[in-house]
Amino acid sequence: MKVFFDTRLMPEETVKDKINYNDALLVKESLNTNNANEYKDTEIICINIFSRINKETLDKLPNLKLIATMTTGLDHINLEECKNRNIIVTNVPSYSNESVAEHTLALLFTISKRIHICNQEMENCNVNMPELMGFELKGKTIGIIGTGSIGLHMTKLSKGVGMKVIAFDINKNEDVAETVGFKYVELETLFKKSDIISLHIPLNKHTKHLINKEQLNIMKQEAIILNTSRGELINSEALLKALNSGKIGFAGLDVFENEDFSCANPNSVSRKIMTHKKVVATPHAAFNTIEAINSLFDVTVKNIDLFLEGKDVENRVN
Ligand code: NAD
Repeated sequence: MKVFFDTRLMPEETVKDKINYNDALLVKESLNTNNANEYKDTEIICINIFSRINKETLDKLPNLKLIATMTTGLDHINLEECKNRNIIVTNVPSYSNESVAEHTLALLFTISKRIHICNQEMENCNVNMPELMGFELKGKTIGIIGTGSIGLHMTKLSKGVGMKVIAFDINKNEDVAETVGFKYVELETLFKKSDIISLHIPLNKHTKHLINKEQLNIMKQEAIILNTSRGELINSEALLKALNSGKIGFAGLDVFENEDFSCANPNSVSRKIMTHKKVVATPHAAFNTIEAINSLFDVTVKNIDLFLEGKDVENRVN
């Protein structure tokens, strides 16, 4: 049996069109420790970011052989534990470079042109032009952390609107930097010199809370932070304080430390950030385009087919 979790995140007709296995079970909810028992016979699961694969969940799925995650990031899966149990894990690299980079730029345009406030004031028939005054991106310095698939595309889009681009990555690609026209700098220099900082790195033990009180303190007054990677890259408490004090001018965020978008916890720090007047927030939706969803399904189904044929899967990560 193959179980496809998190199908609520995709249009129903696309899910039905793309998944053509006779024994496929389509499940809207995420896989978690509480419901894993219901799927104890499954050998293959397909999941999204909201299904957390920890030791307890794996204990309840003794027949599991393949986890196909329809994500690039892997921070929701205990890879070590999967390896110990000979469970193959596949992901989908580079399926949404354009979608995520364009979304990041859309957050920045929304902030720079105050589009969200314009829209609100139009709806309320109460236009206050001085309040809507924005700024041009041309000539501003953007610091891009992570120049992999998405970050690199972001450097090109940023150059396209006339921004000066500086970047930091633990794996530098100087040739690409020269061709695109950006410079690698030390992380501290990037924090100090950037008008806008955009995060495009994976979440792992080295990158958790990469942006904390100390890093926020050395940033320019009223710097703008963009995060479409993972919420845990930024310490939420520290960000909230910096937004409240005005140290951070605006934040454009698609990801949060606690991604509960149900409004069930109005007093949580994440919810305070999502609704902050200096924040443009989207619900982890940067990947959500027709093109990226098609690509996600095509790569995932191909990997499952290869596995079923006894061949090497293409996107094994463990
Ligand atoms: P990628 O692997 O192509 O690039 C990541 C880059 O980060 C690499 O160049 C790597 O060298 C660099 N890096 C790793 N650790 C670093 C560190 N400690 N400091 C500096 N640089 C470091 O990944 P990608 O496809 O560009 O995706 C980036 C992230 O975007 C993913 O890990 C995922 O979390 C996130 N993402 C979000 C969405 C969304 O819908 N919001 C969709 C897809 C991906």
